[in-house]
Amino acid sequence: MPRYVCTGTCGGSVSEEEFKKGKNKCATKGCPRHGKPLVKEE
Ligand SMILES: [Zn+2]
Repeated sequence: MPRYVCTGTCGGSVSEEEFKKGKNKCATKGCPRHGKPLVKEE
């Protein structure tokens, strides 16, 4: 299963299922990529 990850410093990642349900952006306050899209990681 692919995962979607934040490329910032928070190290956040979600499953494809969560991504499709709307968890498609970094939600970690203080992360440089907060509010930016997560990227697919094979
Ligand atoms: Zn982040």
